[in-house]
Amino acid sequence: EAVKINTFLNTVLLPYQELALAEEKEFVIDLGEDQQLFFDKKRIHQLMIILLDNALKYTAPGEKITVFSSVKNNEWLIKISDTGIGIDEEKKAAVFERFYRGEESRNRKTGGYGIGLAIAKWIVDEHQGEIKLTDTTPKGTTVILRFPVK
Ligand code: ATP
Repeated sequence: EAVKINTFLNTVLLPYQELALAEEKEFVIDLGEDQQLFFDKKRIHQLMIILLDNALKYTAPGEKITVFSSVKNNEWLIKISDTGIGIDEEKKAAVFERFYRGEESRNRKTGGYGIGLAIAKWIVDEHQGEIKLTDTTPKGTTVILRFPVK
């Protein structure tokens, strides 16, 4: 369906911004020019929830989460950056497998079954998109999403 991306993203992001502030984490929303795109709103919402839950879960008070979105060159780019515990290079591929959980997370009080990123990957594939994990400088994780614009 046709969706105004900034309206959509604000609906998804504002509750997380409140949550982050309550946990004393910084939460920056950086949206480009608004555009109308076609996608499955429910699925992309679910995808964002998975990634935002992780960003909050693996970030401590005083740290920062930034969400960036822009449409350029027939591509919708979304970046979710955090300054949290980060993901080791050799684990970056494994985290997309079902039931994989980093030992840091298994030791943590934070719950989870390690299913989130497997579902995220499935949703991205279904939209012919791409999901990549990179490091945030100086520390943390940045998730990069790219979707072709139809
Ligand atoms: P859940 O099933 O509730 O999503 P989970 O967070 O453990 O639990 P995934 O979302 O699949 O599962 O993530 C898999 C693993 O990837 C996590 O256990 C964690 O080790 C790592 N991970 C995911 N996102 C981040 C992040 N933003 N920063 C650091 N590590 C992360």
